[in-house]
Amino acid sequence: MHPKNCTQFEVHFLKGSEGVNQLYYNDTIYFYHINRAQRKHLYIYIKNGEIEVRAPQKMSFKKIEKAVYEKRHWIVEKMRLQQSRSQNNYEEGGQFQILGKTYTLSIQPWDKKRIKIERNAEKKIVLFFPYGKIADEENIRKAIERLYREEANKILPPLFSQAERITGIKAFSWKIKKMSRSWGLCKRNGCISINWNLIRYTEDTILYVLIHELCHIKHFDHSKEFWNLVEYYLPEYKLQKKNLHSQ
Ligand SMILES: [Zn+2]
Repeated sequence: MHPKNCTQFEVHFLKGSEGVNQLYYNDTIYFYHINRAQRKHLYIYIKNGEIEVRAPQKMSFKKIEKAVYEKRHWIVEKMRLQQSRSQNNYEEGGQFQILGKTYTLSIQPWDKKRIKIERNAEKKIVLFFPYGKIADEENIRKAIERLYREEANKILPPLFSQAERITGIKAFSWKIKKMSRSWGLCKRNGCISINWNLIRYTEDTILYVLIHELCHIKHFDHSKEFWNLVEYYLPEYKLQKKNLHSQ
């Protein structure tokens, strides 16, 4: 049966080899592999957009089919989620966060040779791109990175001063950096580094990170005393900490 003839939520299987099987769902075909081995139960794995059914050695094909059918909503939802996550954001309509607000990328050709990028009040990030050139993922990624760095240089210094005023703790020095593993870092000598990507979050969440790092100047650990100090300056720090980890 052609998938177009399937009604909503109706699922069909093409009986074929054990290797590749098909699941029809809502006009879409999903392929899945069956792998048999010595195991007691059947498991369905979805990884990198592929469906793998790990079945017990002796389970009949009919039973496997039935198990996949019963799990069809879950399978399709999981596939959909994985697809939307892997979709390229570095294109027209891509979404980017600054200070907790979502900005939509708009690409506009212009008659200059350079690339210009700016964010405007209408929650748009506008990328002006030379006519005739292709705004590919790499170019867009670089431009967005430049925008984030520029914005971080405007947004973070006043917040850092504010965090120093709140705590009365002064950093020996501090800088905005590209960091892949942490939002902030405090060295023993009182030098603090802040990840420029932090500007994705709201001011309150950013302040939490800055206060957190400043408190490390007094307590160079994550001891009870350290957290008490953070809480003293920022009673709702747990909420901000959660915001930081939930994205
Ligand atoms: Zn820390």
